[in-house]
Amino acid sequence: MVKSALMRSLMVSLAALLLTACGPEDEAGPGAVASSGKTYNWKMVTTWPPGFPVLQEGAERFAENVRAMSNGRINIKVYAGGELIPALQTFDAVSQGTVEMGHGSAYYWAGKVPEAQFFSTVPFGMTPRGMNAWLYHGGGLELWREIYEPFHVVPFPLGNTGVQMGGWFNKEINSVDDLQGLKMRIPGLGGKVFAKAGGNPVLLAGSEVYTALERNTIDATEWIGPYHDQRLGLYRAAKHYYYPGWHEPGTVLELTVNKRAWDSLPADLKAIISHAAESENVLMLSEMEQKNLTALKELQARDGVEIKRFPDDVLTKLQAMTEETLSEEAAVNPAFKRVYDAYQAFRQQDDAWTAISERAYLGIEQP
Ligand code: CA
Repeated sequence: MVKSALMRSLMVSLAALLLTACGPEDEAGPGAVASSGKTYNWKMVTTWPPGFPVLQEGAERFAENVRAMSNGRINIKVYAGGELIPALQTFDAVSQGTVEMGHGSAYYWAGKVPEAQFFSTVPFGMTPRGMNAWLYHGGGLELWREIYEPFHVVPFPLGNTGVQMGGWFNKEINSVDDLQGLKMRIPGLGGKVFAKAGGNPVLLAGSEVYTALERNTIDATEWIGPYHDQRLGLYRAAKHYYYPGWHEPGTVLELTVNKRAWDSLPADLKAIISHAAESENVLMLSEMEQKNLTALKELQARDGVEIKRFPDDVLTKLQAMTEETLSEEAAVNPAFKRVYDAYQAFRQQDDAWTAISERAYLGIEQP
């Protein structure tokens, strides 16, 4: 009895000594266990309308997965665009630490960080397969983190729209001349290229797109893909539905985390967030693809939509104008050039591989 009481006393002293030696701040030691008991209540703001299918829903599913995996140690309350702050102030809110997290896409911050567009999508650029290869394994994500570092923002890929559609037009597009003076809702770099082709790009929020097209305030619009386009009712406002979405060949969506908030997390919660983002990156893209293939069938069979491919000549010319647009920006903006060069170096290798893998396989004539 006495002996075992002495042993217990010794063990307690030894444990206390170890704890003191490691110190409460030592992340790798017992201190990490102690600090991991803390609960984090975070806010995430998004650029999407409330309840926006797949994208807002995906951000909410990510938050729920983080909560479940951390056993409630990290609770992320998700707000849609405008619920807490205006949609396009998401980046600033995360940067300034007004909120801990954001969800959107990097090309929304083109006015502030033009080179961020390479981490979202560029016309005639890489598809989700190539983007994931570049970001996760080809140095893309490290470069992205460097670009966001001065803003105290840590980015993660979280979702992808897949290859988008070319858009809805109130007339046939048979040559680049048909784009002359055409008023089209087409944002970002795609809009700049469209302007080079003689078109008149306009910026409109999603909520205004249908009415503008229906009332002929605009002649054409792009939105996302069959699923979201069908939900917006665009087939009732314009007759000609074109593919492919040369201007958005798979838009990467991003999770942004305030740097200070990120640094405050213990290692296990960081791992949970990283892996939940990777998991949602796959889930969102696959949900998008499944919903698009279903909606495509409905648009054709039920809604009587005729789907047309842009003529090769139009696509070739738009591609040449894209290269001009990117080179012009790179010539005056060293930061843009740096990311452009890294993107292009990876992309050229990806093209060579894709030519004999997916492109070759998918190019086999169907019997
Ligand atoms: Ca789009």
